[in-house]
Amino acid sequence: IDKQGEVSYKRVPTDALMGSIQLGIANSIGALANTPDRDILFKDFEVIENVAFPSSGSNTTPSHGYSDFHFKIYAPNAFRYFRRIFKIEQADFLNSICTQPLTELSNPGASGSIFYVSADDKFIIKTMQNKEAKLLRKILPEYYKNLNQNPRTLLPKFFGLFCYQSFGKKNIRLLIMNNLLPNSIKIYEKFDLKGSTYKRFASKVERAKPTPTLKDLDFNEEYKEKIMDYSMLMGIHNIDLAEAEIGLRTLDDECGPSTSKDRPQASTDARSSQMDLWKSLQRDFNTKYPHEEVRIAAKNAKGERLLIFLGIIDILQSYRVLKKLEYKWKSFFHDGDTISVQKPLFYAKRFETYMKETVFRVAIEECASKIRKNV
Ligand code: ATP
Ligand code: CA
Ligand code: CA
Repeated sequence: IDKQGEVSYKRVPTDALMGSIQLGIANSIGALANTPDRDILFKDFEVIENVAFPSSGSNTTPSHGYSDFHFKIYAPNAFRYFRRIFKIEQADFLNSICTQPLTELSNPGASGSIFYVSADDKFIIKTMQNKEAKLLRKILPEYYKNLNQNPRTLLPKFFGLFCYQSFGKKNIRLLIMNNLLPNSIKIYEKFDLKGSTYKRFASKVERAKPTPTLKDLDFNEEYKEKIMDYSMLMGIHNIDLAEAEIGLRTLDDECGPSTSKDRPQASTDARSSQMDLWKSLQRDFNTKYPHEEVRIAAKNAKGERLLIFLGIIDILQSYRVLKKLEYKWKSFFHDGDTISVQKPLFYAKRFETYMKETVFRVAIEECASKIRKNV
């Protein structure tokens, strides 16, 4: 933030950066629409397009009110393919990212990266270091392979990689990913789990098994020599608390301040309307996040119903760690040689089992069926 109160990132005012990014992305998606959708070739991973955006406009770019800039698009065909695998329509993508202002996330990590969220809450744009962008480009073919075998991966979903360059300013690399934590659903607790503060070691018995379920500290020990940036991001929505809050709000709206005598009657009415509200919340939620993000129903120790969102983030720190991480997570999901490439659901199921038996002791199924009945 400078003396005039203008917010900037690498000396580019954030408003201009946001607007320029939107122009650049819209232009690249538009250009892609003119090339036929096809399977990708190895050389597609290495493609870098570089488009000049003079403020006066050009044959292929509109005029704009920001400084002249260049916009690099990495592996456009590969990312288009990824978006297709992740069931993101090009038009929706364009609409989400480019037609409404992006908002900046207020509590990002310590690395200095900035995060933007699309207005519809579906996408996150993260600025990244050159090193991270290089690593991502290097692993694209493997990412592609993994994606084909396991489209419901817990690894981050990468939808696009770009670079903004403006004369005399530093390059700003931008990665578009899935937003794991929807704003439309209140997240009561959020964990960025690296595990270092949890006293959790696998038991000797567990370790002796062919596929031991290792715990946070095991994980730590394995990786302590290396930079551990990646983590499991976990958001917890509390269905019962949310219902109670909606109920309270409804009570206030309907009855205003009321005597304690009136309350029981009012609360029955409130409960049915709170149910309606909850249903509409769910509907809204389902249209926004159709079966894509990992959601798990659970209960906490108080017996309150929870909805848990999770995924792995911040994985582009080191290739060696990345390989190990991938292996580690895969080893949670299947028993060594019984790898099934035909059944992507298997990974999700396997993970659910792990969560059920290891992380959450309560009967998820019982809770899930209750939720199904209630919703
Ligand atoms: P550091 O390297 O210091 O850990 P970073 O700048 O690389 O930080 P991340 O670890 O990627 O940042 O993310 C920081 C925070 O931003 C996360 O803890 C989380 O709250 C939020 N965040 C990151 N990625 C996502 C995502 N895909 N969906 C929702 N929230 C996210
Ligand atoms: Ca991190
Ligand atoms: Ca990081």
